[in-house]
Amino acid sequence: MADAIVRIKRGREKPIRNRHPWIYSGAITHAENAVDGELVNVVDHKNRFLARGYWNSRSQIQVRIMSWEDEPIDDALWRKKFKRALSLRSELNASGARSACRLVNAENDFLPGLIIDRYANWFVLQALTKFIDKQKEAILSALVDVTGAVNIYERSDVPARQKEGLDSTVGLLRGGPLPDLVEIQENSKYLVDIAAGHKTGFYLDQRDNRRRLARLVKHHLAQEAGRAKLLNLFSYTGGFALAAGHYDALHSVNVDASRQALEIAERNFLHNGYEPATHGETAEFILADGFDYLRHCAEMKDSFDFVVLDPPRFASSKRQVERAARGYKDLNLNAFKLIKEGGYLMTFSCSGGVNRNLFRKIVFGALTDSGREAQVVKPLSAAADHPVSLSFPEGEYLKGLLLRVY
Ligand code: SAH
Repeated sequence: MADAIVRIKRGREKPIRNRHPWIYSGAITHAENAVDGELVNVVDHKNRFLARGYWNSRSQIQVRIMSWEDEPIDDALWRKKFKRALSLRSELNASGARSACRLVNAENDFLPGLIIDRYANWFVLQALTKFIDKQKEAILSALVDVTGAVNIYERSDVPARQKEGLDSTVGLLRGGPLPDLVEIQENSKYLVDIAAGHKTGFYLDQRDNRRRLARLVKHHLAQEAGRAKLLNLFSYTGGFALAAGHYDALHSVNVDASRQALEIAERNFLHNGYEPATHGETAEFILADGFDYLRHCAEMKDSFDFVVLDPPRFASSKRQVERAARGYKDLNLNAFKLIKEGGYLMTFSCSGGVNRNLFRKIVFGALTDSGREAQVVKPLSAAADHPVSLSFPEGEYLKGLLLRVY
């Protein structure tokens, strides 16, 4: 049982009682016996128990809460939490998660600092905090127990670890050897580079949105002249364009600043049966800056039936929001100009500092400047294997809009 104590300032306990999992230094009166990466009991100003969490003095978020009960954080608790997370995903599997999904979504699965993704028979663990680092053996044993995992790889190489005073840790944890690329089945087949790809290898969060695009493209091709053009900007390994398929009728332009991502994108197309010589329409893979490429399209008077804008994170903190807003405005403004009458824009932001309302306002500003008209057909978010804890609004990082443009 933890005997380290963190006392909360009078009047600052409400978010904790409301089960927000983060405690910032400003809410803390003092800490006793607290060791970085170890458990602490969180108490109110009258020493009443509030929660049990883990401590890191180096982080702005000094405590992350593991439980609001006075219960041990032990093997049984890890197993209980993993079983919960797994049971949600097993229900989702029926709706298309197939062989790859996020099994543990950190705070949103009540496991702060821990991400576990599954790609076919590979499990990838990402530890974001010191406590999770220290608990790795307990986590692995519970994970193996609950899921039967044989092959486990670690991708603890995110910048957020620096805030915890941690270096990157990457490598095989169990089983192996890790193949260069692991094949998953989602909306199409995708090859995933677990060792060196972005995040833990793939943007699993966009699964449902890729499927939505696929449906729209299919419908459009059936209705219209039977051909269409897609600009897949910030394409990574081709996710959206591959999901849309229809290589005979859909000309896709995949643009990314990462050569490795585009190489895999091209392999993905071939792997899914695309044949450059025989398919009527082409798939292009263009190494370019997304902002520049949009301007280039405008100069060339290019136009598209579908544009997907899925840029990287522009702002992780409040301070960067203004710059991020300018970036989104620029991208969306130039994208609106390229869309054919009645075409669609799928536009996203994964910046934590930009909430759904603000994003919508920015896109509205871009629309106004473009002189076009648009309807929101559907607000978009991350797939259901990325649940958001209702007491943790920060968990909703991915927001998007499906717009029809006139
Ligand atoms: N839509 C993708 C995920 C995109 S993630 C999918 O469904 O898988 C964002 C991508 O933007 C990354 O692949 C990254 O390499 C790329 N990127 C980052 N900065 C860029 C820039 N300035 N121009 C073009 N691409 C960029």
